[in-house]
Amino acid sequence: MADYLAQLRGREPFFWRNPDYESGENSAAFTLDDMLDAEARLARFAPLLAQLFDEAAEQFGIIESRLLSVPDLAGRLCPGAKILLKADHDLPVAGSVKARGGIYNVLYFAESLCLKHGLLQLGDNYRRMAEKPIRDLFGQYTVSVGSTGNLGLSIGTIAAALGFRARVHMSADAKEWKKQLLRSRGVEVIEYAGDYSSAVEQGRRESQSDPYSYFVDDENSPELFLGYAVSAFRLRDQLRLRGIVPDADHPLFVYLPCGVGGAPGGICFGLKTLFGNAVHCFFAEPVDSPCMTLGLITGRHDGISVYDIGLTNRTLADGLAVGRPSAFVGRQVKTLVGGCFTVKDETLTAYQQLARDTEKLKIEPSAAAGFAGPEMVLRSDFCAFRNLDPENIVHILWTTGGRYLPE
Ligand SMILES: *Cc1c(COP(=O)(O)O)cnc(C)c1O
Repeated sequence: MADYLAQLRGREPFFWRNPDYESGENSAAFTLDDMLDAEARLARFAPLLAQLFDEAAEQFGIIESRLLSVPDLAGRLCPGAKILLKADHDLPVAGSVKARGGIYNVLYFAESLCLKHGLLQLGDNYRRMAEKPIRDLFGQYTVSVGSTGNLGLSIGTIAAALGFRARVHMSADAKEWKKQLLRSRGVEVIEYAGDYSSAVEQGRRESQSDPYSYFVDDENSPELFLGYAVSAFRLRDQLRLRGIVPDADHPLFVYLPCGVGGAPGGICFGLKTLFGNAVHCFFAEPVDSPCMTLGLITGRHDGISVYDIGLTNRTLADGLAVGRPSAFVGRQVKTLVGGCFTVKDETLTAYQQLARDTEKLKIEPSAAAGFAGPEMVLRSDFCAFRNLDPENIVHILWTTGGRYLPE
């Protein structure tokens, strides 16, 4: 372990194979039923989302991204490897992977509020939420969140559209354009000089003192986690359409940019639940903010931060600028994630440019963190250790944000 810590401290990119992965145990406290429940909830809301957002109407209110072939990009990243790209950078409404967990979490709250007040039943048309008396009920509540930008964009947008008062506590890393976009969507943005964890802490504290306030807790939310997990069903269907049915000898390798852990953790849980040994997930973090890697390697989760080992948590990957991981997620995915790797900022910028030049994709730096994955994992002992033929692997780069990135 001392070795790994030295490498993290040295800010050199490296790959860590997760030894707990070999146990074959399932560390997650959730099941397939939880995922099906979340998927069904999103289906109930689809007509309402199609009505609220033009961007979602095109897909009948199901917020989903494409699975793309990226031959030119693949050739540059890892010649010979079969690489697909899951285009969450282009998710409608929120423009990032946070459209999954974030929107789901607010819908979950909205539905439970309606049920509690006896204003709706599960079989009803959820478009009624856009009318009196439900909209008036929502108007009494505040939905708030702490964010480095994209979660705020997701939560703020859906909360304001449903008629909640929306407050987003933004860390210093948050980009100006994200704050402006939010304000233009009717959301209150509160700015902090501190980092992500302190923005979350402030938001949580403010919310606790108000019974009409609901705080989306990115460090501890089962709803966020399950909202992300639903992506596994969608990916399975998209793969089937391409004739790809992974199995243990022909597995998927999935590369997920990681901040506090919710998005990659939820997606990893979903994929492992559906695909079992036919999928292996890897988390990607900036060399300056490898909080999940550190939490998993040491087994201390949120008991250790990147500051504790002398790192700055200063990265241009604003979506991944998190110094302390979610303990909730770390414990869920402890035996489900195959490994983690780190990437330098200048590599992220180069990948961002490469994605534009080769495939005309508009992604933000955070979204490119997974691009180093195929090369790094294939170079490691992961395949040898599991007796896998590299030729049989389908790699999936999960791009996580960028749709609204200004020119
Ligand atoms: C939030 C985010 C991630 C990672 O999600 P976490 O839940 O913080 O781990 C990755 N990429 C982008 C662009 C993000 O906004």
